[in-house]
Amino acid sequence: MFNNLTERLSGVIKTLRGEARLTESNIQEALREVRIALIEADVALPAIKVFIEQVKQRAIGHEVLGKLSPGQAFIGVVHEELMAIMGGDKADINLNVAPPAVILMAGLQGAGKTTSSGKLAKWLMEQKKKKVLLVSCDIYRPAAIEQLALLAEQTGADFFPVKTGQQPAEISTAALDFARKHHHDVVIVDTAGRLGIDEAMMQEISQLEQLLNPVETLFVVDAMQGQDAVNTARAFAEVLPLTGVILTKLDGDARGGAALSVRHITGKPIKFAGVAEKLTGLEPFYPDRMASRILG
Ligand code: GDP
Repeated sequence: MFNNLTERLSGVIKTLRGEARLTESNIQEALREVRIALIEADVALPAIKVFIEQVKQRAIGHEVLGKLSPGQAFIGVVHEELMAIMGGDKADINLNVAPPAVILMAGLQGAGKTTSSGKLAKWLMEQKKKKVLLVSCDIYRPAAIEQLALLAEQTGADFFPVKTGQQPAEISTAALDFARKHHHDVVIVDTAGRLGIDEAMMQEISQLEQLLNPVETLFVVDAMQGQDAVNTARAFAEVLPLTGVILTKLDGDARGGAALSVRHITGKPIKFAGVAEKLTGLEPFYPDRMASRILG
């Protein structure tokens, strides 16, 4: 994914060999390789800058312990900092409210919101034994509502039927009433996306957020978006109190840099990774696995 950073570093690491400490001069070249690899992986520059600085601070003066070569010690520091910048430990979904717990899905059209809503419903039913209601507020694209209805059918989640002419705010309120009456534990609300950032869309989702008071507002973003993910993330983070991120399409040849950039911009943990089109293709996001994958 990240052009095999380990391979890139292997030449440099030879030059680090035989020194008992990582010093500013001997890690300079290694840091340059890390920077190039991250640029190639489409990580946004501000995120790279912060990352490199953190690695540098940690690496300088790092004692080389036991059998570790300075090169291995450096890789270790890079790995730990990659994990830290992506949120350290795995972040669990928060459902700690009186039911129904509302999960609001936000993101651009095509990011994978509807698919992820279905996958998340399945995951919550299977892994957390929750009764889930799926709701679509995408009144502008009847096909999106049908797509969610189909996903509900396939997963066995309940689907909230939308009446013609109902507006997103009305749908949300009615769906919440319905969920309370039918004792749903979780309500997943899929929203309308646009191809780009759009004022009306932002206002609408912001209004929905205030109305629904979701315990999770998840920003769904396509890992293939690379650098563009930064602008989208910034725009959504400005209008919504995001609580987490779903990074989709990690099964493609995504550069993966989006993981670092989006985390840097939003400050919120990536909670799930989309790893296939099919309904089982959603996994909790593990920063340590991602860091290992990056290092190759
Ligand atoms: P929305 O407009 O944000 O609701 O996006 P959709 O859920 O309709 O997804 C857009 C396309 O991306 C669909 O063809 C999905 O099957 C596909 N998709 C979504 N998530 C993933 C994923 O994790 N992996 C792959 N390969 N495809 C995905």
